[in-house]
Amino acid sequence: MSSTAVPAGETQGGAALIDGKAFAAGLRGRVAAAVEKLKAEQGLTPGLAVVLVGEDPASQVYVRSKGKQTLEAGMNSFEHKLDASASQETLLAKVAELNADPAVHGILVQLPLPPQIDSQTVIAAIDPDKDVDGFHVINAGRLMTGGKGAEAPLVPCTPLGCLMLLKDRLGDLSGLNAVVVGRSNIVGKPMAQLLLAESCTVTVAHSRTKDLPAVCRGADILVAAVGRPEMVKGDWVKPGATVIDVGINRIDAGGGKTRLVGDVAFDEAAAVAGAITPVPGGVGPMTIAVLLANTVTAACRQAGIPAPELG
Ligand code: NDP
Repeated sequence: MSSTAVPAGETQGGAALIDGKAFAAGLRGRVAAAVEKLKAEQGLTPGLAVVLVGEDPASQVYVRSKGKQTLEAGMNSFEHKLDASASQETLLAKVAELNADPAVHGILVQLPLPPQIDSQTVIAAIDPDKDVDGFHVINAGRLMTGGKGAEAPLVPCTPLGCLMLLKDRLGDLSGLNAVVVGRSNIVGKPMAQLLLAESCTVTVAHSRTKDLPAVCRGADILVAAVGRPEMVKGDWVKPGATVIDVGINRIDAGGGKTRLVGDVAFDEAAAVAGAITPVPGGVGPMTIAVLLANTVTAACRQAGIPAPELG
């Protein structure tokens, strides 16, 4: 990417700011319009069920915000709370009930789960067509094999949100060198698959990667999903590159206060990059907006009607 490709707009230290908050608001608007149309033309109201086990404060905040945004988009929201001591059998019975409920088109079991419950077993029990988190092995397999139509995957929300921001910024990604730092099942691996499907040349880096700075410097698209505050430095970034920072890390800001930072040293990287997502306000707001979009997609597929293009 050359710096001449950067459009006028808000910039930070040379790089254009990729405004995930604004993009997510637009996506929620498109979801709400699609829902209104589905209700009017098909008599179909998409429904999202969220199951929370226990009282983890961060999870409670996420679940509240998912419920609120689901209702704001005109969809049905079903919240199910189970005790922190709930058994795996109790949770599996709840998942089976939601799998069988025709008003529920998307099921999300909020992670992390208490230690007595195996999250893989629970994810495997969700109907893959209702798995709006995209974590079921069937959806992971469909993503890997490029399934289309009835075999199209439901894609994990955070990496799909990152891809939407990249395509909005860069258009055609074909032939670009993409480096994804991180190989988790929820972010790094699906991100790499999505970029490969866009015909990028993809490198997946991780904790054993040799000379990570040099690997990152080869990236036209650099995605950091590591969970280490400000690890990616300015001199790891190729001039003009597009940097997507997935990290959300709370650090000590002195005086008893904390602040959120990403996995990228923002000021340094922004001085070199062509475009960059801030933290907060970049990738973070995309996740729930994509969850709503995935629920609409799932509802349409279950009803046997074409899913609207929302991204
Ligand atoms: P994981 O802890 O599951 O994975 C982290 C990955 O980073 C691993 O693959 C690990 O490598 C790699 N890694 C760790 N240390 C290094 C290092 N020093 N050098 C290179 N690679 C390293 O994290 P997640 O993928 O779940 O999340 C990553 C970040 O994204 C977190 O900050 C999280 O909070 C954030 N996040 C944000 C979301 C949002 O915006 N909505 C949603 C999900 C996550 P290895 O495999 O070798 O151990």
